[in-house]
Amino acid sequence: MYYPEPISKLIDGFMKLPGIGPKTASRLAFFVLGMKEEDVMELAKALVNAKRNLIYCSQCQNITDVDPCRICGDSSRDRSVICVVQEPKDVIAMERTREFSGDYHVLHGAISPMDGIGPEDVRIPELLKRLHNEEIKEIILATNPTIEGEATAMYISRLIKPTGIRVTRIARGIPVGGDLEYADEVTISKALEGRREI
Ligand SMILES: [Zn+2]
Repeated sequence: MYYPEPISKLIDGFMKLPGIGPKTASRLAFFVLGMKEEDVMELAKALVNAKRNLIYCSQCQNITDVDPCRICGDSSRDRSVICVVQEPKDVIAMERTREFSGDYHVLHGAISPMDGIGPEDVRIPELLKRLHNEEIKEIILATNPTIEGEATAMYISRLIKPTGIRVTRIARGIPVGGDLEYADEVTISKALEGRREI
């Protein structure tokens, strides 16, 4: 059994998304066929606009539609503390806690020698550049408590320590092997409170 080409193309498209197999992809494709045309247009536009209109903030490297992003451009925030996270979604998780009022730096990944991902492949050089330009007092390493996240935190710590800037690591309120994204606000708050020098 095969589908007309427009449907099989749609199914192929959905299958490129994470966690979507052939069954779910065909269910989604047929769901889209049943949607109102204007809703489908809205969805298609949102997909294209998200890809086309988002840039990286020249300061924190987060995805944004304005440069500097709204967090870096917010004069009420504490410029002397930078919280380093792996992904843009981690910034959202941190912001949800309302416990942190400093700046962020988004690495877009973690060091993983096994996968051939080195320090230059994540935005560590951009972080180091920020340290020369600004009056930074503390770097909070909030990478995930996974092997890659820990290795990344250790690597950054070793680079920054000689500069005299305080380097801290969030405590293990976050389950080991877990993602910051999926932790609740209380867990993230506790992890932030319990950060320590590394
Ligand atoms: Zn920014």
